[in-house]
Amino acid sequence: MDSDPAIERLEVSAYRVPTDAPEADGTFAWDSTIMVLVQAQAGGTTGIGFTYAPAASASLITELLAPAVVGLPAFDVGRASSSMLQSVRNANRPGTVGYAISAVDCSLWDLKARLLELPLHRLLGAVRDKVPVYGSGGFTTYDDRHLSAQLTGWALEQAIPRVKIKIGESAGTRMDRDVARMRQARKVIGPDVELFVDANAGYSAKQAIRVMTEVRDLDIRWLEEPVSSDNLTGLREVRDKVDADVAAGEYGTDLLYYRRMCDADAVDCIQADVSRCGGITQWLGVASLAEAYGLEISGHCAPHLSVHVAAATPNFRHLEWFHDHVRIETMFFDGCLDPAGGALTPSASPGNGLSLRKADMDPYRIA
Ligand SMILES: [Mg+2]
Repeated sequence: MDSDPAIERLEVSAYRVPTDAPEADGTFAWDSTIMVLVQAQAGGTTGIGFTYAPAASASLITELLAPAVVGLPAFDVGRASSSMLQSVRNANRPGTVGYAISAVDCSLWDLKARLLELPLHRLLGAVRDKVPVYGSGGFTTYDDRHLSAQLTGWALEQAIPRVKIKIGESAGTRMDRDVARMRQARKVIGPDVELFVDANAGYSAKQAIRVMTEVRDLDIRWLEEPVSSDNLTGLREVRDKVDADVAAGEYGTDLLYYRRMCDADAVDCIQADVSRCGGITQWLGVASLAEAYGLEISGHCAPHLSVHVAAATPNFRHLEWFHDHVRIETMFFDGCLDPAGGALTPSASPGNGLSLRKADMDPYRIA
């Protein structure tokens, strides 16, 4: 192997995968999910990274980010990250641009680990062998039977001791159904499994407080985005009045976003998504920032992209075992992990341990 290989090229593709049933949360409905995949090549080795984002992210990577990283030393991921951040100044980093950067950054960390023949969590410096997960789905579109079956699968069959359902249905106009579904969930999972809820900004602050007061007997431990994650005073207002930990941060793409959230005392736990926040390089910064505020960090979505950096994050709480992404990652990759017992053990194979099942991916390719 060349002892100091340069990044040769980024191969970018996008895939649209229909959901296995209609899905909705408090403020959004969807029937398919798009994955944008990056394969970074250096020294005869390929690293894999991805994000769940509009297909336009693929063009952003080809036009803006590839020229910023091709030719740089493959081992200098920090240099590539800085170069990407500099290259998008005029395109503006928040949103899809940040998601595109994340996919490339993750592919470069995977590439480096594979070049060094190290598991990615060992390259990053693991602090734990197992990464706790929570089952996540519980869409508002599910009928009672579908919700029960999904919760039973996680809590009873796979023995995952934490599960999350969506509430805030139809922008908070179905509060009675929200309450009924939370009661159903508690009944299905029994008293010992932790129950989490995510309103996806479907409520006002006062409304969220009223709903959580009404279900106080259900011992709900996690209330995600009761109001918009940009409404820091609203999050703080809810946080002051409910027993559950208030969490937000899944859309963040830079450190200042998280600093504002921490400065406002808006949450009990920071959420970050390694496929959105700027990749592994930026995740580590977000985690350190949270730690300085005495907060833990929870991983949002993309579990097989997140598990390695989660294992290397001291103040890590848990990772979202999200139904849609678990399904897609299991379809697309060999090397996927088993959440039985409520934790993932990162692969001992080089890099992120994933390999592409190209024949299974091709039918879904859109770019
Ligand atoms: Mg959420």
